[in-house]
Amino acid sequence: MSGTLTVVGTPIGNLGDFSPRAREALAAADFIAAEDTRVTLKLLNHFGLKKPMLSYYEHNKRGRGAVICERIEAGENCVLVSDAGMPAISDPGEDLVAECAARGIRVLAVPGPTAMATALALSGLPTGRFTFEGFLSVNKKSRRDHLEELRGEKRTMVFYEAPHKLAATLRDLLDTLGDRRIALARELTKIHEEVIRTTLAEAANRFADGSARGEFVLVVEGAAQETPAKPCTVEEAAALALSLAAEESLPLSEACRRAAAQTGLPRNRIYKAASAQHEASRP
Ligand code: SAM
Repeated sequence: MSGTLTVVGTPIGNLGDFSPRAREALAAADFIAAEDTRVTLKLLNHFGLKKPMLSYYEHNKRGRGAVICERIEAGENCVLVSDAGMPAISDPGEDLVAECAARGIRVLAVPGPTAMATALALSGLPTGRFTFEGFLSVNKKSRRDHLEELRGEKRTMVFYEAPHKLAATLRDLLDTLGDRRIALARELTKIHEEVIRTTLAEAANRFADGSARGEFVLVVEGAAQETPAKPCTVEEAAALALSLAAEESLPLSEACRRAAAQTGLPRNRIYKAASAQHEASRP
């Protein structure tokens, strides 16, 4: 009888987040498919477990996937883990799950922490609808295409990023999406955990010197609901800001920030024009 594949989440920084059920799953497995066997060995040692392991990572996943599936079909139970978090979420595993599903192998889960959901929950931004964008490509064209696709995205967007690429990513996000709110969730579940809730312009400025350290998830506010039908003047954008401020009881600065995001015009010019229109309309 065929065995199973169990996808097991592992801590993203705090070993206390490794669940009793995850430990049981590892203890019960015939073998473990691990992104990096050295990383997983440390986890096994910490929990006093000993198991045969097989590496499964980006560059060997094609051939290795078939080997793993054949062993499962021959009756073995396999646990899949990555270095941290949920396997298959911006980590190897997606293809293995798909291959098992295609072969009719039962795939089970022991859910664990994942940086994207943790960051989203802490962001303070709308969570009702969101889109997970993973890592932006380093290839210039794919990166530009990806960002362009997101220009009008209204849902909250979640990105992963490495610290040495953070400055460039914040700049590119600001250039494409305009200024808007962002939460930078850093070193989640670790000693230096923090959530920086700010704007894209402020974040781009703050990290421009490449000083970012640690692991980051970026949670970016979606585009405002209203989209301009056509390019507009600063005066029209100012009128839009004033109506947003009145309709949604927003401070003028916030209304101008939204009008800037919608129209692509600079926020300070809209603010100046809106202040003048407001003054002019006073009795
Ligand atoms: N599978 C993992 C998960 O479920 O979150 C994600 C793996 S992906 C290769 C690594 C990226 O996740 C990092 O570059 C960072 O963006 C994010 N990440 C992982 N751990 C994190 C943490 N403790 N704090 C903030 N971000 C983290």
